[in-house]
Amino acid sequence: MTDQIAVVPGDGIGQEVVPVAVDVLDAVGEFEFVHGEAGDATKAETGTALPEETYDLVAESDATIFGAAGETAADVVLPLREAVGSFVNVRPARAYPGVDALRPETDLVFLRENTEGVYSGHEDRLSDDLSTLTRVITTSASERLAEFACEYVDERDLDGFHVAHKANVMRETDGRFRDAVVAVADEHGVETEEVLMDAFATHVCLDPEQFKVVVCPNLAGDVLSDLAAGLVGGLGMLPSANVGPENGLFEPVHGSAPDIAGEGVANPAATLLSAAMLLSHLGYDDEGDRVRAAVEDVLADGPHTPDLGGDATTEDVGDAVLDRV
Ligand code: ATP
Ligand code: MG
Repeated sequence: MTDQIAVVPGDGIGQEVVPVAVDVLDAVGEFEFVHGEAGDATKAETGTALPEETYDLVAESDATIFGAAGETAADVVLPLREAVGSFVNVRPARAYPGVDALRPETDLVFLRENTEGVYSGHEDRLSDDLSTLTRVITTSASERLAEFACEYVDERDLDGFHVAHKANVMRETDGRFRDAVVAVADEHGVETEEVLMDAFATHVCLDPEQFKVVVCPNLAGDVLSDLAAGLVGGLGMLPSANVGPENGLFEPVHGSAPDIAGEGVANPAATLLSAAMLLSHLGYDDEGDRVRAAVEDVLADGPHTPDLGGDATTEDVGDAVLDRV
């Protein structure tokens, strides 16, 4: 049966980079593409940033390629991650030959908890002076993430993973997170090394090579992976996969980049690498590798978009990748 891929470009440069990824997916496989609207422009038109049809499309499809949403990001991305039952956000941060990177030796993957922490939406305004946020950590979500991490390192023949947390201060919530993750790893005979999330920020800048797989709570994973993007050549380089039990939503780590939207110069690498992750997730391993290799070749030889110091357009880069797949 043909796999159905939902295509949701969203706002800003999402409209420019997602079509490039769809062309490449179309070139390497037989897929049925179904298109969905979401984001700021959709809200302006229809009154809602995430129409029910789009939610259903994403929930029903075998996988989704998503671009970005601007102001409405929280109203779009959070429900869409929920639509695919995603509990982990896989964010590889890798430096590529040909791309000027602060730390060319960087090659690590963040496994970010994707359903709770401070992003679970429990914020309250209690008075004119006081607002609060409830941070939610459950043993079950932490264990599910740890199970995924154990499988992830097993498949890659790694001995173990790092656990980033701040359990010395958030003793109850991050203490629970740390205990649950380490217990699951112990059961599987997978090694863990703990690292305080603030110290990690320094260590990863000074010596990124010591990290291969880093398991983090939600907010820490978000912030630390953006930091790692800075080490490998910018936000245009980082792909991500929101993985659920049966389904996945694949999206660049960057947002809608309103400052360059409409100029046709966005770097499509992050979205193309997300498409490669989508292919691997659907079991098209060879096709995923082909797309990854083609992107790597183009990063090495050019053309490059302005964020990487070149003067190529999004389309030029897309065409060069298409030529190679
Ligand atoms: P949003 O609110 O949608 O997250 P933002 O203003 O935070 O938007 P980001 O998309 O997160 O913008 O981008 C931050 C910076 O990185 C911007 O200057 C943007 O131009 C740059 N950037 C992000 N993605 C890309 C890309 N694919 N190619 C080139 N530059 C990018
Ligand atoms: Mg942003």
